[in-house]
Amino acid sequence: MARGQQKIQSQAKAAEKSAKLKKQQGHSANDQKKAAQKALVHVCTVCKAQMPDPKTYKQHFENKHPKNELPDDLKNI
Ligand SMILES: [Zn+2]
Repeated sequence: MARGQQKIQSQAKAAEKSAKLKKQQGHSANDQKKAAQKALVHVCTVCKAQMPDPKTYKQHFENKHPKNELPDDLKNI
């Protein structure tokens, strides 16, 4: 009987552990979202203007700074 109870306890502990792990994963997912939102702000390397997305940034760069070389991360857009 004692063994059975131990098993139940260890199962409960395991459940608790995985619940905590899930919580932590949830938190890190939120952090990743925040990081992604931050990454959405693109700062022009020439005039430091902020662009909400890379397409806008690329258009801005081509219109405002045609003589400057396009940054590598805009070449694929
Ligand atoms: Zn600019």
